[in-house]
This record gives sequence, structure tokens and C-alpha cells, in this order.
Amino acid sequence: MTYPVRRFDAVIVGGGGAGLRAALQTSKAGLNTAVLSKVFPTRSHTVAAQGGISASLGNVQEDRWDWHMYDTVKGSDWLGDQDAIEFMTRAAPDAVIELEHMGMPFDRVESGKIYQRPFGGHTAEHGKRAVERACAVADRTGHAMLHTLYQQNVRANTQFFVEWMALDLVRNEAGDVIGVTALEMETGEVFILHAKAVLFATGGGGRIYASSTNAFMNTGDGLGMAARAGIPLEDMEFWQFHPTGVAGAGVLITEGVRGEGGILLNCNGERFMERYAPTVKDLASRDVVSRAMAMEIFEGRGCGKNKDHVLLKVDHLGADKIIEKLPGIREIAINFAGVDPIKDPIPVVPTTHYMMGGIPTNYRGQVVVPQGDNPEAVVNGFYAAGECACASVHGANRLGTNSLLDLVVFGKAAGDTMISYIQTQETWKELPADAGEFTRQRLARLENQTGGEDVDALRTELQRMVQSHAGVFRTDAILKDGVQKVLALAERVKKTEIKDKSKVWNTARSEALELDNLIEVAKATLTSAEARKESRGAHASDDHPDRDDEVWMKHTLWHAADNSLTYKEVHTKPLTVDYIKPAKRVY
Ligand SMILES: Cc1cc2nc3c(=O)[nH]c(=O)nc-3n(C[C@H](O)[C@H](O)[C@H](O)COP(=O)(O)OP(=O)(O)OC[C@H]3O[C@@H](n4cnc5c(N)ncnc54)[C@H](O)[C@@H]3O)c2cc1C
Repeated sequence: MTYPVRRFDAVIVGGGGAGLRAALQTSKAGLNTAVLSKVFPTRSHTVAAQGGISASLGNVQEDRWDWHMYDTVKGSDWLGDQDAIEFMTRAAPDAVIELEHMGMPFDRVESGKIYQRPFGGHTAEHGKRAVERACAVADRTGHAMLHTLYQQNVRANTQFFVEWMALDLVRNEAGDVIGVTALEMETGEVFILHAKAVLFATGGGGRIYASSTNAFMNTGDGLGMAARAGIPLEDMEFWQFHPTGVAGAGVLITEGVRGEGGILLNCNGERFMERYAPTVKDLASRDVVSRAMAMEIFEGRGCGKNKDHVLLKVDHLGADKIIEKLPGIREIAINFAGVDPIKDPIPVVPTTHYMMGGIPTNYRGQVVVPQGDNPEAVVNGFYAAGECACASVHGANRLGTNSLLDLVVFGKAAGDTMISYIQTQETWKELPADAGEFTRQRLARLENQTGGEDVDALRTELQRMVQSHAGVFRTDAILKDGVQKVLALAERVKKTEIKDKSKVWNTARSEALELDNLIEVAKATLTSAEARKESRGAHASDDHPDRDDEVWMKHTLWHAADNSLTYKEVHTKPLTVDYIKPAKRVY
């Protein structure tokens, strides 16, 4: 049996900020563009982004793109590729003004220009003082951005496939990517979407952890599909823990709260960040603040009856400012923590938030893999952007507000590269005779499995294991044990069983298929983390507390086929400026 085929110039998997920005580019160029999304596009996780999008507009105090570049390199703990970082930070002011001109309703400063607030790790003059760089729409910046991009795509005639789930990549004999298989969730029918170019913009995979700020749909599907099709995954040991998830609930309280002046307190009422980061205090980068919080809790200075969280105090900002600039946060605190921040502090704890690693790309959005002597050979027809991609601008740790920027800068760049490539393709590359066969076998296995594993129970077990084996602090022994455990879980994931075999809107089937992706992300995470014998950015090892630039100034590449790793060099040549040499990272 083969599946029905539909043809497009460009197939974009993902309707979040990255997918929509890329689609706008290809649709406006007159290309027949399909955007697939598991949810209605404006429900993608981008909608949840609160704090802002970075750009050195300098609307409040002087700012410069090369200061933004320096901060991003330092934030990445020197693992970011400096050509990509230069490209992004240079493009930022234009990218934000473009969003403004599309109709994004930014807050304003007195003069009428876009409002900007300080954010962790964003500084003037290489760390001298915090700078206002985060362009914001109250505490609902992602919401405003996603709706703006969606409306522009409607105008540009992008074709949306809403509640369609991509299942696997289709590659031809030469290894070129020529489409995807996809499930129409409403009917349970599977199609082959045949394309001249495919972009993955499937977002993060934070749901490998038990406690995460990520949406339930963030199951790393793009990474799973890429891994199964032989594409390695880059830097998967680096997961960002956001300092301020609501304790017990995991829901995010934006760093913008600290940008507006909120402070963290331990059980003695001490503003402990003064000890860990004397210059910028509560606005140090996220890995630094998360580790400081974990240390306070570990050393018995946590709050509450279990001493398992710290407090985020905001009442001193005054009711007016909280209501005007942080309305969404107030709502979250009331609903999820039972406190009104106008009066009481919010209980917070470090929570998994962002995946620094992903599908390896260059700054043009092309997916690149090692081939013979070439560490970065382009995979024809395959592109990735946004959180699922590793360009790599965030290296070992991402600065807040640099992701929304990454989405629009690399979404657009990938769109442009796709346009040039599609223009060289007179027609579609022929589908191989067995196109879709791999997907058919996966679905048939699930259909016919008996005596198998329960999807929900297995996913919970996986999430708890990853939470306890790849957390804020890691050790050799815990990681080694984690690798064994994830490999054992992977064997069990091959035998998942669903009791409900119906076709129409069968969420049991889609959740089983998502688990196939989660397990690849988890294997990559533990295997890469176990190998890296140093502490850098978000990867903090008790056994190897220092950064080791001699040995570890390199990216990991995880290969699914044999759960092995190879390495590639960090790009030390920016596009036009001088290399920013490694230094100790203090805030
Ligand atoms: C709570 C929260 C707050 C944040 N705040 C900020 C902030 O203030 N500033 C900042 O810079 N960053 C912030 N981030 C990070 C940032 O929002 C995300 O990294 C970014 O929005 C990811 O965008 P994306 O386009 O890559 O993917 P997403 O927005 O996650 O979209 C992924 C898309 O892929 C689709 N998809 C996935 N799998 C499939 C499949 N198999 N088939 C079809 N479609 C699929 C989904 O349906 C969705 O449309 C925040 C993140 C969170 C979780």
C-alpha cells in the first residue's frame, strides 16, 4: 500500500514563530507553501513567550549590536558559533522594526519608540551594567508576535494544514530530503507531502522532563524524525533550567519580572544573588541563577515547609506597575501559586525550559551533517529553524529573549535559502518506490502489538528518570546510570500498545507516536551529557567543576543508529569582526 501524494514547493512543519516567519518568506515569493501544525498555529508554544525579543535598538539607553554579540557569546559559554551569533545580533534591530511594521503592538516609551526592559545577561560595554534590550508587549510578547505573523501569512496565502502531524522524513537514494509523511489527525489518514524543500520548525522537546515550562505538545518531533532518518543531533546535553517556574506547577514566571525589579529571597529574607553575581545580581544569566537557587535549597536555606523553593518578591514595584507591565504574571501567580504578587512573594524553583541543542544547521538554515572530510555537508532540500535547530547561537546557555529573535532571524534566512534552492529545481525529485514504507511499518507495528507497554505509564517513567538523571547538577555516576536506563526504556518504547484503534481523532495513537520522538531526544541528552567531562553553561558536573577549553571547546553530534557521538569544532570566525576570545564567565 502506498499513501496518497500531495505536492508543494515548500513544506514547513511547525506553525510557531520560526515556521510562520519562514512561510511568510516563501509564500510572498509566490511559492506554493504548506504549513503543518499539530495544533492551530496560534496555539504553538511561541504564544506562551512572555518577556520579550532582544534587539540593540537603544531606545532607553545607548546600546550596540556588538555588545549584544559579546553578551550572546559569553552567555553561550563560548560554545556558540560566532558567525551565526554575529549574523543574528546584527540583524536584530531590523527584524524587530519589521515586526513593528507588520503590526505587532509593542509597548512604548515616552518618545513613542518601542519599550525595552533589562533581561538576564544583556549588558552594556561587555558586562559593565545591565541594559534595556528586551522589546516587549507587556508580559505577552510571544502572543503578540505569533498572531502578527499568522495574520501576515493569511494575507500571503500560505496553506495551513491544521492538526496534521508529520511522522517521518522522506529521503531519496542520494539522501536528499523530498518530503514528509503526515497524519491528518481528524480522519486518521496518512499522506505523503512531496516537496522541493522541507523546513522543520517543530519547537522544543522539554517534555522529556517531568517538570517543564513547555507545552504538552513539545515532544521534540522534528528531532525524532531527523534522528530516525540518519541526521545527527547537536549539543543535546545542554538544557536550560529557568530560575522561576512556579513551585509545584512548573508554569513560567518571566525573567521580565526581575527585569522590572523583582528580587529573589531565601528563607532568611536574604537577597542571595548579591553573593553569587555581585554586578548584575538577579539579572545574571539563567544557568548561573538556577545553580545559585539550587545551592540555597541544597544548603537548607529554601522556603516553605519542605524548604524546597525560594521566593520572588515583587510587591515593592507597586500595584500600578504590576498591573500595567506584568498582568499575565499576576494572573499566573494567583491561579497556580495562590498568591497575589501585589501583596505576597511568589514561590519559585528552577524548571526545565529550553533546549539549546537540536538539528545541526548553518546560519542560512541549511541542515549540515558530517560527510567524509567535510564536517558540515549540506543535506539537499532540508532546512531547520527555531528551537528544534542548532545554528548554534545559544551554545551551552541561551540568554532570555534571544529565542524569539532566533525564530524571526533564522526563519527568514531559512526561507530565503529555500527560495534560492527551489528556483534551481525545475520539478520535483522522484519519490522512491518505497516512499512511506517506514511510516507504514511503524503504524502497523503499533496496530498489531499485543501484550505491550502502556504509553502513559512509560512516558511518565521516562520523564521522571530524565528529571533525576539530567538535572541542574550532574555527576559521572548518575549520568552513566541514566544512559543504561534510557537504553532500557528505549527497548520498551518499541513495544508500546494502544487499546483504542479507532481512526478519528485518536489521541492515544498520536501520543504513542510522540513517545517515539521523546525517546530519541532523551537518548541524545543522556548520551551527550555523559560524554562531556567538564562544566560549561547549563551542563554543570560535580565531578568536573571547571570549563575545559583544551579538550571540550567542541560541539557534540549524537548519532541514533548506534547511540554514538562524534564532535565538530566551534566556529571561531565571525563574519566581519574579530573573534571574541574565551574568558572566565562572571556576572
Ligand atoms: C513559557 C515560555 C516562555 C518563553 N518566553 C520567552 C521569551 O520571553 N523570549 C524568548 O526569546 N523566548 C521565550 N521562550 C522560548 C521561546 O518561546 C521558544 O523557544 C520558541 O517560541 C519556539 O518557537 P518555535 O517556532 O521553534 O516552536 P513552537 O512555537 O514550539 O512551535 C512548534 C510548532 O511545531 C508544530 N509541530 C511540532 N511537531 C509537529 C509534528 N510532528 N507535525 C506537525 N507539526 C508539529 C507545533 O504544532 C507548533 O506549531 C519561552 C518559552 C516558554 C516555554
